[in-house]
Amino acid sequence: METPLSVFRVNQAGYAAGQPVTVAFVTGEPVSLSDAEGNVIRVFESRTAPVDAASGEPVTLVNLGPLPEGEYTLRCSGGERRFTVMPRAWQPVTDALVKGLYYQRCGCELRREHAGVYARPACHTAPAIDWEDRSVRKKVTGGWHDAGDYGKYTGPGAVAAAHLLLAWKLFPSGCSDDLNIPETGSGMPDILSEALYEIEWLLQMQRSDGAFHHKLTKDHFAPFIMPQDDLDPEYLIPVSHCATAAACACLALAARVYRPFRAAAANRMLTAALKAWDWLEAHPDFVPYRNPEGVRTGWYGDNSDADERFWAACELLAATGEERFRSAAEKLFGGGLLLTEFGWVNVAGLGAVCCLFDLKEKAGDVLYSGVKDTFLAQSEWALALSAQSGYGTSLSPEHYTWGSILPIMNHAISMILNAELTGREDMRSAALLQWHYALGMNALDLCFVTGFGERSVMHPHHRPSGADGIDAPVPGLISGGPNRSFPYPSTRERLGPDTPPAKCYLDETPSADTNEIAIYWNSPSVLVGAYFSGKSRNS
Ligand SMILES: [Zn+2]
Repeated sequence: METPLSVFRVNQAGYAAGQPVTVAFVTGEPVSLSDAEGNVIRVFESRTAPVDAASGEPVTLVNLGPLPEGEYTLRCSGGERRFTVMPRAWQPVTDALVKGLYYQRCGCELRREHAGVYARPACHTAPAIDWEDRSVRKKVTGGWHDAGDYGKYTGPGAVAAAHLLLAWKLFPSGCSDDLNIPETGSGMPDILSEALYEIEWLLQMQRSDGAFHHKLTKDHFAPFIMPQDDLDPEYLIPVSHCATAAACACLALAARVYRPFRAAAANRMLTAALKAWDWLEAHPDFVPYRNPEGVRTGWYGDNSDADERFWAACELLAATGEERFRSAAEKLFGGGLLLTEFGWVNVAGLGAVCCLFDLKEKAGDVLYSGVKDTFLAQSEWALALSAQSGYGTSLSPEHYTWGSILPIMNHAISMILNAELTGREDMRSAALLQWHYALGMNALDLCFVTGFGERSVMHPHHRPSGADGIDAPVPGLISGGPNRSFPYPSTRERLGPDTPPAKCYLDETPSADTNEIAIYWNSPSVLVGAYFSGKSRNS
């Protein structure tokens, strides 16, 4: 981030030819737009912009419409900024966000031909110890490291893998098949191969009675060392309702997705999902997960499993057609759910996707018309938030908290799905503003994806990036971004009480509260990226 903050904020990965180009002016001065030959093609008079509440900046969003392929320059007396319009501008960053998950792989060597300078030996290969019975050892391999740490968490992992499956199911033309991962060329799409690496791990997290362990971690976070040097024992931490229901849903979805490619694996997935459901039925009373005494790794707490059960019931209905799953899903839906949430804590939206895009009329009136009406009504909220923001960012100032990128990508997904169901252009355009936010059109003038943009995240809270001795961080990882609640005293001290919410960010390795990465922040971004990459391929 050595280039100073510009008065023009743009999508630093470029703009797709055929798609509207929206830029933000943080200046009231007259502005000119020139093409690559230096011809002024547009002039904007001086203006007074309202102050954007989240950033404290006077921001004017300018939709330049679709522009022909080429280089452009915005200029005013306060500075200039270049941006590029090119075909399929967002495929490289979408691909990198998937490949970023490859770099999170645990238990295998990252070979030089796939990982380049980020190659490393296999990590975490010792058998796991059962927390509740230390005499029990179980070999559990694979999966993705969750975030900046080396833990592996069932619920967040299931959700992240599901996002990849949905990206491929819903927007296949935005998913590349040449990611240069070990499975490239195997006949299965690369995005599915990458997700399968997580799903094969997930299957091993099931206990013999059908429940899923909440996580596989040490009892504490590792220091900033490389994963292969992290040799303290890993534990299978007790089971939980939310982990079991999320894994159940993901595996039922996966069984359908992988059946044409790997029938035997698909059968194992469905069997595991049905067994998990039986456990849930036998344990109807929700028990919130708590870290056992002595465990200090991620909590991933949740105050309800109704949304996870709803998603699971929908997916099992789609996988088996059995009426018992329809009635379970209808009952859970009747209890009231927020269908526009797709992140690890609230997954009801993933159940809605199954009803609206897979089952459709086969879901029955309640799960199709009812879910559709509720979803469409609830997704208006994302559009309203976007309209209130200077940058069009779908987040209210008070909601810039840990991992603010997640609600922003969540809202992008709700607006994309709304647009897919209704054809509404206002929803699609607002969703695109969230993608622009992630890639640089924001108060920090920062591209949140490592390896992209002229002002990019350089010091994510990510152990391999901090410990590998390479200046550039591991590419294709998206930072959690601004967090106004300052849980870390050091962050509070550095930023002070007057920093606007959207600027509460430090590009510094220790700042997990503003600059951590996570598989379940990459994965919704893949879904959004696949949609817009597919759109720009088709336009
Ligand atoms: Zn590992």
